[in-house]
This record gives sequence, structure tokens and C-alpha cells, in this order.
Amino acid sequence: MKTRPHLLIGLLTLLTAGACERAPKRLTAEFYAMGGIPVHVTAYQADRGDFLEAVESFREKVQALEAQLSVYRDNSLLSRAARGEAVELTPEALAVINDALRFSQETGGGFDPTVGPLVSLWKQAEKRGAPPGKDELLEALNLTGINRVHLEKQNNRTVLSLDPGTRLDLGGIAKGYFADLGTRMLMSAGVRRGLVELGGDLVAFDRSEDPAPFQIGVRHPRDQHKLLGKLKLQGGGVVTSGDYQRYVEIAGKRYSHIIDPRTGMPAGELCAVTLTADTGARADALATAVVVLGPEEGLKLVERLPGVEALLVIELPAGGLRVLKSSGVGDRFDPADGVHLPFDLGKPR
Ligand code: AMP
Ligand code: MG
Repeated sequence: MKTRPHLLIGLLTLLTAGACERAPKRLTAEFYAMGGIPVHVTAYQADRGDFLEAVESFREKVQALEAQLSVYRDNSLLSRAARGEAVELTPEALAVINDALRFSQETGGGFDPTVGPLVSLWKQAEKRGAPPGKDELLEALNLTGINRVHLEKQNNRTVLSLDPGTRLDLGGIAKGYFADLGTRMLMSAGVRRGLVELGGDLVAFDRSEDPAPFQIGVRHPRDQHKLLGKLKLQGGGVVTSGDYQRYVEIAGKRYSHIIDPRTGMPAGELCAVTLTADTGARADALATAVVVLGPEEGLKLVERLPGVEALLVIELPAGGLRVLKSSGVGDRFDPADGVHLPFDLGKPR
């Protein structure tokens, strides 16, 4: 396998046995989005011209959506809404926001796109070297919650407004959403089998006459050069969320960048969650939510949702990892050889 940048992130695709036998023509392309995240697009047995055209349209679409949705751009719809403006949404922006609100409800608020004030508070805490105080936490918690987000239909238009101090940040689902968008565009261009991977979030599809599964490498959350194992995927989204790519460090202690919107505290128990769902956006939101909810509640949520499976990784206090898998994973997860872990596959009891 070649060493490529995307090997260093949570998920990576490995050649599938089926595809190897058929010796597929494999086309790949790469561009950058969301301030430097590499986007990898792959298609098998596709026309090169159609593929490159689809990738170019995809890149343009991502750029256009970023201009509308990025919280890092002063003129984006979300930045203007955060400044108190009522903004008219484009159909695409409305679709992502509706998804985010739906996933927030589906996860009992574990996923919450209004968590921004809490994320900022923990970033400030890192700079000053001390965790936030109770009053600061309460203040930020009061600005959080999807009941502070208002969508109003006016004729054919939808207008977004936010209560004062509230921000809408789609960082927890944007990568998955963009990966969905890319695969839809590949399919429209006639590609039968392909995948799009964006910063560890991956969406794959195989609409060929003889579909073969994809094998996804799941990275070891504590050693980026190792695999935790391989996961077989028929298609759809697979996303890893965890504490190892991004975190804040305060007085020598590492805190997750994922915040529990119910308490304002960084999520603690799970060091990684790899989750599969029908779409990338859903897998992205649910993976973040399962990290927030922790092993027991998180696994219960996964078991309750049809078509959703997950691997939950806990770092044991004595060292080593404990991997829990949801009931539908079965032998689709193949733990890596030579991974010295107390591999304890089962439900928490
Ligand atoms: P992900 O990497 O998809 O798990 O998303 C994490 C990013 O989403 C963080 O960097 C935060 O900006 C934001 N975030 C943190 N906690 C939450 C949460 N509970 N719900 C939604 N987004 C969150
Ligand atoms: Mg996510």
C-alpha cells in the first residue's frame, strides 16, 4: 500500500479482495476544503473525463457551500445569523441545517450544532491554563440549545434567526455532508463504484452489477501508524470521532474537543467511535453524539437506530484499549494482527 496523506487519518480504504480480482481501473483525485482538509475522490472503472468533470463540479459546490456555511468567514450566512441578522437560506444551506437539527433530536441533544459557545470557552481555558469556572460554564450553557434556532417560512423562502449570543456551527457534520454530496455527484456522472473521503469521514457506493464490499482500515486511536482493524462496508457512511486528532490541553491534562452539551464538560470516556450509517452526514453526527453519550448510553442509541452500527473504543485506566461493538457489526470487523490489546468484544455490563 502506498503511503498517502490520508493514511494518517482515522479511516483509510484498503483494496477489496473482490475489486483486486477484477483489476479495476482506479481513478483518484484530491483537493482541499474546510481550511486545508484533503478531500480524496476515488472511482473504479469510470470514464476519466467524466470523473474529472464531476470532481471539478464537486470542488466548486463545496467552495460555494463553505462560503455560505463556514463560521470562519465573516460574510457567511451563519456568521451573519450569529450577529443577529435574519438571513434567507439557500436550499442547500437549509438542507444541512435541517439535517443537523434532526440529528440533534435523534441523539437526545448529544449532537448539538449550537455547542459553539462551550467550544470557545474550553479553547479560552486552554490559553489561560485553567478549566472554566461554574459561572462561565452556566453562561455558555444558556446560549446553547437548538430551541434557540428559528427557521421561519416566508412564502417560498426560509429565514434563519438565532437568539442573542447563539451560534450555529456545522463542523460536526460538514465533512460527512460534503462526502455525501461528492458521492451523489459521482453517481450522477455515471460512476458505478466509488468513494469520497474527507478528513476521516468516508462515503462509499457500489451500483455496479457485481457489487463488492469496501474494506475500511480503522486507525488505532493511540498509535497513528497502527490499525485497530478492518471494517467491511457495503456502502454508505463510515466516520470516526474521537479525542486523538483534536483536543485541548489544560495544566497537562488532555480534554476532548467534543463537548457534552448537557453539562458543558468535554466528553471523557470514549477515546474513539467509528460508526456506519446510510449517509455520511448522519454517521458524522451520530459518531460525535456517541462520544458525548459515552459507552452505555451511546451503544444503546446505536442499537436503537436501524442501519447504524459502531465500534466504541475505551482507554482503560491501567493502559490498553477495550473495544465494544454493536450487535450488527458481527464479523464485519476484523481486528488487526499484532494489535496487543485486551480485545474485549461485547456489550458493557
Ligand atoms: P467531529 O470531529 O465530527 O466529532 O466534530 C467535532 C466538532 O464539532 C468540534 O470541533 C466542535 O466544533 C463541534 N462539536 C463539539 N462538540 C459537539 C457536539 N456535542 N455536537 C455537535 N458538534 C460538536
Ligand atoms: Mg461528527
